[in-house]
Amino acid sequence: MEEHKQEESMKHLGEEEGEEESVSESVRDLPSDAVKELLSEGVCARCIFRLFGLQGRVYASSPSLSSVSSLSATTHQLCTLCFGILQFTYYSDDTQTLLQNQNLPLLIADTVKRHAYQFHTFSLEVSIPPIILSNDNSLRSYMKTKFGSQSWFQENLHTGCISTKDALKFSLIYPLENLLECKSSMGPFRIRLTYTHTKASKGDQNRSDSAETCKRRKIGMPKFIIDPANEPCHFTFYCYRTPFYFGGRYLKYSRNVSQTCWIIDDERMGEASVEEIIGGKILQACQGDSFKFHAAGREDIDVRMLGPGRPFLVEVQNARHIPSELFVKDVERKINNMENKLVRVKNLKLVGSEGWDLMREGEAEKQKQYAALVWISRPLKDEDFQCISSHKDLKVLQRTPIRVLHRRSPLEREKIIHWMKIEAIAGSSQYFLLHLCTQAGTYIKEFVHGDLGRTHPSIGSILGCRAEILQLDVTDIKMECFLT
Ligand SMILES: [Zn+2]
Repeated sequence: MEEHKQEESMKHLGEEEGEEESVSESVRDLPSDAVKELLSEGVCARCIFRLFGLQGRVYASSPSLSSVSSLSATTHQLCTLCFGILQFTYYSDDTQTLLQNQNLPLLIADTVKRHAYQFHTFSLEVSIPPIILSNDNSLRSYMKTKFGSQSWFQENLHTGCISTKDALKFSLIYPLENLLECKSSMGPFRIRLTYTHTKASKGDQNRSDSAETCKRRKIGMPKFIIDPANEPCHFTFYCYRTPFYFGGRYLKYSRNVSQTCWIIDDERMGEASVEEIIGGKILQACQGDSFKFHAAGREDIDVRMLGPGRPFLVEVQNARHIPSELFVKDVERKINNMENKLVRVKNLKLVGSEGWDLMREGEAEKQKQYAALVWISRPLKDEDFQCISSHKDLKVLQRTPIRVLHRRSPLEREKIIHWMKIEAIAGSSQYFLLHLCTQAGTYIKEFVHGDLGRTHPSIGSILGCRAEILQLDVTDIKMECFLT
């Protein structure tokens, strides 16, 4: 066992040595006259590597060009190409100080660890000011004029340049993988580095630069025309996680709970909201920054949501915690065990951003089933049962209800009542339960009382008497979404 371990570690060591050797070989192979030229122009070692298309670990350790040139790369003078980005020299926006030759990987790793994210991989996002790219272009055309005829130029410099962005990633990823003890790959946990430069917006300056390059090339006097930068980039970084999506169905047992947080003139309507109860619990468990709650349609504050529930999606921003399957079940249990029992969730699960499509799918054509407690102005007759249930796919014209006219435009819509059924209430002749299945978007309250003739036909007009709705429950929403 021990022996095996030793063998493994030897092999590992061998690999690393091999890699180091090939790194120093590739540095040694760089054309020394061009390297000298670049060094004398104040270009940093990592920029020289990237101009010659070197990749990988060569950027990770403290870069040296001693094998190619007796001139050493500048460390204290700002690189004329990357303005210090690849020298880890920058003006820190967070501390408002100029920092030179920092151990940037360590700094990033410490900050990441302080934020206590759970993560299995990380990925770097880098934003570089446009002036760096225009520096590269100027230098390349200068190099082309000067060394264009040499074979190494045609092989490497011509096509294979690595961008400052990629070179920075090479410089950071290997040490970060060690420090954070995980691999870099495209995943939900991101470290975002942003460099900006005061010269970035001076587009005119760049244009005149390149015009000058052309002119000089024509008269055969190549000169590297980038002014030595006297200012490093501003730099800031932060880490974040891409959103998690939780899908499920909710049930609402209270007639005093709104779907979303509803506040009018600083006064809360109802005692709570589905959004805050469910979203709040999920957010708390994931330790995120914020959440967004979305549901497939809505019911009024005084309408209960029963049966299989209504599909919803909670999007959690910047969660510190990675929710496992067990974790999700636990969150569901916590919501369902709340003392007030206002809301319940079913089938809570983690979904991808495709949860959006699932929610929208069929939302327009979905059918909804209701149970309404109805009062009529005369006693219920035997033939009323037959009369009501004889209507199949009844077309109803609804003008925008009076109660929502202040926020909805006045329109006339045709909606379909697929079926209806009366359920008698024992010992009561003027009250009954009306079960009905309708097209999504039908105003049920108005379909019962007629809304002063704005909805026609209505239960009142069909039965030839006054009809009032006292209570309403949604008993089913015919959607596949999050049913299991
Ligand atoms: Zn540089």
